[in-house]
Parts: sequence; structure tokens; C-alpha cells
Amino acid sequence: MSDYCDTEAPAPVPGAGGPPFADCVLCREPTEYPESYKGITLCPVCEWQEAQRTACSG
Ligand SMILES: [Zn+2]
Repeated sequence: MSDYCDTEAPAPVPGAGGPPFADCVLCREPTEYPESYKGITLCPVCEWQEAQRTACSG
């Protein structure tokens, strides 16, 4: 029996007022990565295209 546990944490609002996002290195579109992300940042479109390229290398 719980008397005081399970306090509800406020759920973050998705997509609203998020951190500044890094630009895609290919098309300069905003990505889902924060600016502090270390590495290559790709937007979902370019990321998908890169995945396709690397998937069938040769
Ligand atoms: Zn892109």
C-alpha cells in the first residue's frame, strides 16, 4: 500500500520550444539533433538516403 509515492512528473511537450537543433550538413535543414551533438548531423531525409547508400555499398 502506497501513501505518498508515484508523484506525476509533468510530461515534456514534444516539438515545442525544444533545444536549438543543428543544421543538416547536406541540405541545411534543421535536424532532430541538438547543436551540441558531436558528429555529423543529418536531417531525417538525408539520414535515410545515407542509410540506403551504406546499406548497398558496392
Ligand atoms: Zn538533409
